[in-house]
Formats: sequence, structure tokens, C-alpha cells
Amino acid sequence: MHVVVLPGDGIGPEIVAVTEAVLGAVSQRFQLGIATKHDIAGQESIAKYGKAVRPELVEIVRQADGLLLGPTSTLDYAGEPGPSAVFRKALDLFANIRPARTYPGLPGRVGAMDLVVVRENTEGFYADRNMAHGNADILVTDDVAIAIRKITRQGSERIARAGFELAMRRPRRRVTLVHKANVLTTSDGLFLAACRDVAKDFPEVTVEEIIVDAMMAHVVRNPAHFDVIVTTNMFGDILSDLTAEMSGSLGMGGSINAGTRYAMAQAAHGSAPDIAGRDLANPMSLVLSAAQLLDWHARRAGKPRFGEAAKAIENAVAACLEAGEKTRDVGGTQGTRAVGAALVKRLSA
Ligand code: ATP
Repeated sequence: MHVVVLPGDGIGPEIVAVTEAVLGAVSQRFQLGIATKHDIAGQESIAKYGKAVRPELVEIVRQADGLLLGPTSTLDYAGEPGPSAVFRKALDLFANIRPARTYPGLPGRVGAMDLVVVRENTEGFYADRNMAHGNADILVTDDVAIAIRKITRQGSERIARAGFELAMRRPRRRVTLVHKANVLTTSDGLFLAACRDVAKDFPEVTVEEIIVDAMMAHVVRNPAHFDVIVTTNMFGDILSDLTAEMSGSLGMGGSINAGTRYAMAQAAHGSAPDIAGRDLANPMSLVLSAAQLLDWHARRAGKPRFGEAAKAIENAVAACLEAGEKTRDVGGTQGTRAVGAALVKRLSA
């Protein structure tokens, strides 16, 4: 498996180094033959090439089996799309899969949970990527601004299918559709109609529909109820930060951005400049993202060993948390590097 590795900004290099070491450990243990290729994107790339992502890099990623992207700062790219947006659009990574779960060693802030937010990733309210040309966040006059939210039947159907397929691989087989169709009757009406059509192909899955504002109360009140949550781009972005934090910390928020041919592992959080370079970052978010990437590759390439390696990584994370081998954001005392070493030790045993 060929993986392109991009360290990103802020805490990116620190948590990418840990994640690479973890990939090296499972590659050896499960004989996966993972080969990494290093490149740069983000601030480092702007300094060297004048662009956050140079076009050749997109081609390099297309030739690989997966991309590991360190967090990149969102604010510093004002005006042009950052690396995350570039790859999501160029590689058509329409499904952003963001699990949030508690562990015996990390009971969460509001009780036990094991859910996955399945967020549409290419359209919705993301004005920097929902147009063929230009940006849909528009200044009409100096005092009037509008933004356009795009919902398509095809985009809604494929994210719904990704969610229902995931639900079929999980024991509870429940999908919650989160929307605002009471106000956005046309656009979210279309989203819901497309999801309901897809649901017909999955009769074993229990389906429910919840309005996004009510969802904030439901998910905090009873997180254990939820299994797979399918929603549009911005609702999913906001909801998944909430669920990651509810599960213990944003630093546990793993995520994968997947399409039919390409996938990118990326932590759910940003570049955390407030703690960058201080050995404080929790690397588990990106480590768990890499596990998701291996699991995706296992199914796509029909290689179950990669799925076993993903499971081993999740078990090592759980064991570290239980043994107190964890960073401060989740109640521990260890640094990023020490947690990385503990993960590698468990995976090499
Ligand atoms: P950006 O501008 O890149 O979005 P941000 O600081 O606005 O950065 P996040 O990076 O998502 O947003 O960080 C939000 C908060 O969560 C910060 O206090 C940050 O330190 C904390 N945080 C994020 N990721 C981690 C992590 N991996 N480990 C520990 N704390 C984290």
C-alpha cells in the first residue's frame, strides 16, 4: 500500500510522526508492505512553491493508495482553498466519516457512546468548493453578503448509501438522518427524499429523521441511542466536533474522507496552534484516522489483513487509554511522543 504523507501545519508534524510510526509497526506485524512517500502542503508549501497544494502533488496522490494529511490551519488560507478543501474536491472525497466513541479508560463527558457522523463533503454550504468556478460566498454590495448552499440528488444519494452501508457493518443498524427540511423545504426536502429512496435498499436498517437543532439536545441527552448519523456538509461539520468533544476530546476525533477511488485520513480537528511544538497534542485522532484508512483499503482492495491491522490499532488506543498512557486533554500526563512510543510498543508486542 502506497501512502502519501503530508505533515500539515501547527501540531501536524508532531502527530503525523506518531501516526507514521504506528503505521510502520502494523505494517511489520501484519506484513502489509506499507510504503510512505513524504511531500509538503499547507504553509510549508506556500513558502516553497507559492501554493498550498501544487498541481503535481494532486497527481502524486492519485497514483497512491491513500493520503495521510496532518491538520492544516483553516484561517491562514483565506481567499484560496486550503489543502483539505483542494483534495476533497480534486479527488471527489464525498464522504467524511467521523466516529465518536467512549472507552473504558475514557468514559466521555456525557456518558457512553459509539456513533459515527457521515457528513457529505463536497457541496452544501461550503462556498469554496460547491461551484464549478469561483466562490459562492458573495459580496453583493459593501453591506450585503450572500452564500449559496448546494444540495444535489446525486450527492445526497451517495452519502446516504455510504451511511447505510456502514450501518450494515455495525451491530445496531440504525441510521439517523439530520436535516432542516422544516425551513429549507426545497434543498433539505431534496436531501431527505434522496435518503429515503436509498433507505428502501436497506430494509434491515432502522431509519429515523431528526431536525438539526433538536439533534443537538438529543445527542447530548442520550448519545448511546445513536449509531450512524447521515447529514449534509455544514451540519455534519458542526455536529461531529460536538460529538468528538463529547467523547472526551477533539484530540480523539479521527476521520476519513473517502470517495470511490481515493481516501484521505485526516484528524477531525484543526492545527491547534495554541499547543503546537510543545509535545502536548493528542496523536490519537490521526492514529485512529489512519486505522480508518487501512480499513477502507481492506474493503476496497479485498485485503482483510489491513482490516485486522485497523482493529489492532483501535485496541492499542483503548489499552493505552486504560493504562493512563494519554495526553493532558484526556486527563493524562504524557506527551505526544511518549503516547506514540506506548502505542508502537503495544503494536509491536
Ligand atoms: P485552526 O485554525 O487550525 O482551525 P483552532 O485552534 O481554531 O485551529 P482546533 O485546532 O480544532 O481549532 O482546536 C480547537 C481546540 O482544541 C484548541 O484549544 C486545541 O488546542 C484543541 N485541540 C485540537 N486538537 C487537539 C489535539 N490533537 N490534542 C489536544 N488538543 C487539541
